[in-house]
Amino acid sequence: AKSRGRGSAIIYDPAMEELKQERGRIELDLRSALANGEFELHYQPLHELATDRIAGFEALLRWRHPERGLIPPDVFIPIAEQTGLIVTLGEWVLREALSEAATWPEDMTVAVNVSPAQMTDFTLLKQVISALSASGFDAHRLELEITETMLMQECDEHLRQLERLHALGVRIALDDFGTGYSSLNYLRSFPFDKIKIDRCFITEISAGSESSAIIEAVLDLANKLNMQTIAEGVESEEQLASLRTLGCEQVQGYLISKAVPADMLPIERSGARKI
Ligand code: C2E
Ligand code: CA
Ligand code: CA
Ligand code: CA
Repeated sequence: AKSRGRGSAIIYDPAMEELKQERGRIELDLRSALANGEFELHYQPLHELATDRIAGFEALLRWRHPERGLIPPDVFIPIAEQTGLIVTLGEWVLREALSEAATWPEDMTVAVNVSPAQMTDFTLLKQVISALSASGFDAHRLELEITETMLMQECDEHLRQLERLHALGVRIALDDFGTGYSSLNYLRSFPFDKIKIDRCFITEISAGSESSAIIEAVLDLANKLNMQTIAEGVESEEQLASLRTLGCEQVQGYLISKAVPADMLPIERSGARKI
């Protein structure tokens, strides 16, 4: 029989110990989850204000665990990043999102989140090229969401990679804008097509507030730099009205819709439905 090992070890901090065990379990489970098809993508609409239409959807990763149910990405993505599994997982996300979006109306885009680990050795570029060709999806309809923290290390290689992707027609969005060590320098040197203003500014948008002034300045800046704008985490009609007045182009948030599974999207399929 197998030894029960350190069953009687002294536990210094039960909460900490439990957290460690939980992480260990998730790490083990993550490895089989991909092979067992336990990951799925949900899609949240990107709503265009001028036309009141859906401009596209952001793909958001979910893990349907056989025992624990639906697990949100904040729980497992950090672990997948530490173990390097995020590279394989990120490739799956790209392929899945593009093959799904290939069935959408032709004027709709799909936004895909990218992890820093995917950027090393031009992996992201290779993954995108291969996913585009497997799905036949038009590069111009793909938006990659990048955070500022991803750009801080190895700027040169990342810059060259994003430029190559951009040259293919892929659109690059700066995610969570305003939360990192925002450097306006990034806006100048990287080929961004779009700025996603973080939810924390939208939450405090009331008229005359600092947040509202910041949003106004960001929208103005984006306009002058020819970048599209989207506000994240819009939850109330008041926020929506303010963003409309300020001239933000797109909004995303629970007010419009949460992320939903692919078969619940409010769209007419153009191509053949996925099996
Ligand atoms: P994110 O990219 O900033 O995505 C926005 C998050 O805000 C999503 O959480 C979304 O469900 C949530 N959200 C949308 N509207 C509202 C709202 O009105 N109010 C509030 N309170 N929240 C709203 P989610 O799906 O749990 O994803 C969390 C984070 O996990 C994402 O943040 C992203 O950083 C990461 N993530 C998700 N999918 C992927 C993926 O495929 N690859 C990678 N590398 N990261 C992913
Ligand atoms: Ca995002
Ligand atoms: Ca975001
Ligand atoms: Ca975020």
